Amino acid sequence: MLQQTQVTTVIPFYTEWLRRFPDVKTLAAASEPEVLHAWQGLGYYARARNLHAAAKALVENYGGLFPSAAAELQKLPGVGRYTANAVSTFAFNSSLPIVEANTARLFARLQNIQTRIDSGTGRQRLWDFAISLIPERNAAAHNSALMDLGAMICVGGEPKCSICPVRAFCCAENPAMLPIKAARTPLKLLTEHHRFSSDNSSVLLEQSRGRWRGMWILPRLTSVAAEEPVLYSADFPFTHHRITLRVCAAPPQTRAGATERAFSFDEVHAIPMPSPHRRALNALLQQHSAAPN
Ligand code: SF4
Repeated sequence: MLQQTQVTTVIPFYTEWLRRFPDVKTLAAASEPEVLHAWQGLGYYARARNLHAAAKALVENYGGLFPSAAAELQKLPGVGRYTANAVSTFAFNSSLPIVEANTARLFARLQNIQTRIDSGTGRQRLWDFAISLIPERNAAAHNSALMDLGAMICVGGEPKCSICPVRAFCCAENPAMLPIKAARTPLKLLTEHHRFSSDNSSVLLEQSRGRWRGMWILPRLTSVAAEEPVLYSADFPFTHHRITLRVCAAPPQTRAGATERAFSFDEVHAIPMPSPHRRALNALLQQHSAAPN
């Protein structure tokens, strides 16, 4: 949950997630719509699908218990080297290194790495350095300390070198310029049109087969007449895009393979919907209920 998301945002989702899925077996037995509904609002739904698939794999292959070896952990869906090592070191105190955003910045400065840390060579240098530092015992405390050092002292931009406890070992010549990374992909602007179709008790929705696979969205429109009135418009970010979601009261369009279904106003709260569409639907239903019959 914490990938790309701040702790304060995550806490209520985490608490609710554990209430709904208190253990691995409960999560493994849940349906995909239940899992996506619980994840709704956190975005990057591949994480929820991977967590669900990992819970199933744990129940099927490991009796519902996490293996302690990083090599076994890496066999779980969505678990790469960082996650496997982090679980293994923090849960089982294994002597394994971790490289994440804070430690990557710290290591790049300590070693004055002048290659891009998001390149294959750069990544390898970070991991090699992390391996060279790892102690035989108390690796969890060691890794925690390095992450804290990166998060609180060796911060992005201007680091706090004057109070840094490892200053004597630091080779950074110009720390504010490190780490070096590839330039950010420029933001692309997109406009997407959808349809609001409702009687007085239900609303028509489409099951996404693309970006939000399996979740319910307002039915897509492939083309919109210029004179079509826009009922709702709002922007939202999506990876390297800034998307304008526009909802019109346009007539239905036939699109091959699209799954549409009417949901009652009561049902709609319990189905998984991505946040931009949930916000749009809530606003439209409010407008709808306030309109004179
Ligand atoms: S001395 Fe400065 S740049 Fe070097 S590790 Fe400490 S905070 Fe980071």
